[in-house]
Amino acid sequence: MNNSRPSILILYGSIAFSIVSLVFTLIVHSSMVALTIPLIIAIPLISGLFAYFIFYYLLKRFIQQRLGLIYRSIRNKDPMNAGIDRMVETAELDVTHWEEDQSLEITKLKEQEAFRREFLGNLAHELKTPVFSIQGYILTLIDGGIDDPKVNKSFLERASKASDRMASMLEDLDQITKLEANELNLQQRSFDITELVTEIIDAGEIFAKEKEIKVSLKKDYPSTFVVGDRDKIGQVFTNLINNAIFYGNKNGFCKIGFNYFDDIIEIEVSDDGPGIDAKYLPRLFERFYRVEKSRNRHEGGSGLGLAIAKHIIESHGHKITVKSVVGLGSNFYFTLKRSKNNVPHSSRGIPLK
Ligand code: ADP
Repeated sequence: MNNSRPSILILYGSIAFSIVSLVFTLIVHSSMVALTIPLIIAIPLISGLFAYFIFYYLLKRFIQQRLGLIYRSIRNKDPMNAGIDRMVETAELDVTHWEEDQSLEITKLKEQEAFRREFLGNLAHELKTPVFSIQGYILTLIDGGIDDPKVNKSFLERASKASDRMASMLEDLDQITKLEANELNLQQRSFDITELVTEIIDAGEIFAKEKEIKVSLKKDYPSTFVVGDRDKIGQVFTNLINNAIFYGNKNGFCKIGFNYFDDIIEIEVSDDGPGIDAKYLPRLFERFYRVEKSRNRHEGGSGLGLAIAKHIIESHGHKITVKSVVGLGSNFYFTLKRSKNNVPHSSRGIPLK
């Protein structure tokens, strides 16, 4: 009975009603008025049919009204208008789907909540260090250090370095927030990637010299035009090359190479630095992720450099990957689309030369 369809239940009810009606007709026939056989058959049959349609109509209206309330509150739509069996079946299916959607939504919300907590925790942790050191230097200066020529200038310089670090971290954060909100309007155009890499190598020369690391192109590449946002791709190079310099060994190298395919170019940024253990690689592009935090971190790093690079490359519709061997070095790879135009173009496709 539990699994019966509503229309079958109404049918059972109507048959019961016909039987009662037959008994009643027979009593009337034997004790009050003599009825003809067709009438004795017709009365219970007609009353049974009548009962079936009345029950069906009332039950359908009842189900439609109740389901209407439920549907409007969970699905924001009206239930379908069909036979009651279809209506009940569809409602059961809809509730199952709704339950599945809800549990997916709950899992997503829980993940977002965990992520938000971790993000805020990381952010507070990263900002605490420079803020506390600025506080320390300022307090020391207030407590008399300002008049001590041995410390006053160096403390101010250190406080200034710490505030630079905070500023660059906030800039990275601002950028990653925009990237994640898809607010980063990419100005895609055709540009010469060989020229861009050369510019970036030149701009970072002083920094590379300080760490005694040689940054260069793997070989002499011809002008190679690709499609993308020149500034953003420039930032990807800067982040990867800076990491190779920061984490690299003295007298080491960082080489940038191109592998050409039909309409794609693969760019490789490799170094002979300390390398990264395979167990850290899957999380390397996550925000704030750092390998062996205490030993490997560099002043000024926000732990966002690779996350930003990944976002930029993915928003161009490409992928960034890493291969690394501890003790031998790391290789970062990303792809870009090669341009059919062999002159630089503006973001609106207008040739610039
Ligand atoms: P950070 O600001 O700490 O450099 P990144 O997102 O740029 O943040 O890098 C994440 C972590 O990956 C770094 O903390 C470092 O441990 C590791 N890493 C990145 N690039 C290299 C590299 N070329 N060689 C060795 N380790 C690297």
